[in-house]
Amino acid sequence: MTDFPAHIKTVCVYCGSSARVADVYKDATRELAQYLAKNGVKVVYGGGRVGLMGLLADTVLEAKGYVIGVIPEYLVYKEVQHDHLSENHVVDSMHTRKKMMVDKADAFVILPGGFGTLDEAFEIMTWRQLGMHEKPVVFMNVNEYWTPLFAVVDKISSEGFSGAESKNLFSIANSTADLPEALLRAPTSPLDPRTKWM
Ligand code: AMP
Repeated sequence: MTDFPAHIKTVCVYCGSSARVADVYKDATRELAQYLAKNGVKVVYGGGRVGLMGLLADTVLEAKGYVIGVIPEYLVYKEVQHDHLSENHVVDSMHTRKKMMVDKADAFVILPGGFGTLDEAFEIMTWRQLGMHEKPVVFMNVNEYWTPLFAVVDKISSEGFSGAESKNLFSIANSTADLPEALLRAPTSPLDPRTKWM
């Protein structure tokens, strides 16, 4: 198994806020959390205690890792703000939250999730497409959850709505064991935003 890349000190994890999901997703979340803590990698996430998000934070903390939560004020009750994090930021809006999460991270890992997770994943990829950051983005394809999404990405490209380079916006890991390699495989050079339209 490849070592975790030493230059990646902090990983932003996007994942679902629902707990009504199969064990396979919970197990993968725990495994990722333990792996990051064991490798001394800090975790940034949305700051809540609900669903996979809460499980992620609890597991990192149990494994003596470091967790940074970033939550907008109006979600403090809805997503039940976690109150034992290593660092906690309550911010004024969703936009501030997303920007802070991006600024603090060296890489992004996307576990299964719902609309919020998709919104975050696409935002981070479109920001990369526009040259706003050059950090690796990895989808954890737990239980093939994201496979239909990859088909949509292919369709977007084959129908000309994005350049072939759009596939370089992210890489895929099937398990935590694949993560370091997927992070290293993710291209780090800036995409030329003009190629999107050519
Ligand atoms: P979900 O994947 O829908 O369970 O949401 C996961 C996380 O994404 C939650 O912390 C949401 O607050 C967050 N999120 C980020 N952007 C959005 C958005 N535009 N709509 C809904 N949730 C969002």
